[in-house]
Amino acid sequence: VNRISHPINSIINVGRNTIGGKEIAIMAGPCSVESEEQIVNIAEKLKTSGAGFLRGGIFKPRTSPYSFQGLGETGLEMLKIAREKTGLPIVTELMSLDYLDKFIENVDVIQIGARNMQNYPLLKELGKIKKPVLLKRGMSATIEEFLMAAEYIMLEGNENVVLCERGIRTFERYTRNTLDLSAVPIIKKLSHLPVIVDPSHASGLWWLVEPLSKAAIAAGADGLIIEVHNDPINAKCDGEQSITPDRFQKLMKDLKAIAKLE
Ligand code: PEP
Ligand code: MN
Repeated sequence: VNRISHPINSIINVGRNTIGGKEIAIMAGPCSVESEEQIVNIAEKLKTSGAGFLRGGIFKPRTSPYSFQGLGETGLEMLKIAREKTGLPIVTELMSLDYLDKFIENVDVIQIGARNMQNYPLLKELGKIKKPVLLKRGMSATIEEFLMAAEYIMLEGNENVVLCERGIRTFERYTRNTLDLSAVPIIKKLSHLPVIVDPSHASGLWWLVEPLSKAAIAAGADGLIIEVHNDPINAKCDGEQSITPDRFQKLMKDLKAIAKLE
């Protein structure tokens, strides 16, 4: 991942889309896939607003085992229908190697969540494939630990790694996490890998998503991953940090003023 041995920025190709190129990559969608109607409806609106990728969790790493755990393989079929209808590539989290083959076959970008950033057996297996991996920063991981986790994947041969700053744990409790915006230029200085920002998990508050998204792009992030829900109050997961498709559309317009978007 070291810039010294690899001075040119990596560009990750996902179908016709890129991450790390001139254009900002925007991934958006609900925390969890809840139904076919929900994911197709949101995906169509995101597409109209200019998003490049559809996110949606089907295996959810919830703090409480009593919380909604995701629709699993049924949810994957719904994501595929949404992709078919909109053309948006799908980004979804893999938690267990049991589903690796299914993900290689069906998913466009494999997300590794903050809680698995240092799951080394998982990272090593992801290194043996070619599929792009979106690696999220562990909530207590230093930048060095984060880059070393990416190194685990790349050492095995998979160079298609995208890093995601999603907030770290600090003493501050007003926000769910603290967005470490300085990680963006620091990682860009140290590494050739693309870096995106998740303002939703970083803040935990929907009204902070807009200012943090703008700040992330201004700081040099290669993209954003944003939680968007059609009915945030009734969302099965992370409604309080989800913006509506209307707000997302406005955000996309505002972002166009500070960055080049598709
Ligand atoms: C998510 O993106 O839905 C998620 C669970 O994020 P993180 O792993 O950053 O907590
Ligand atoms: Mn979430």
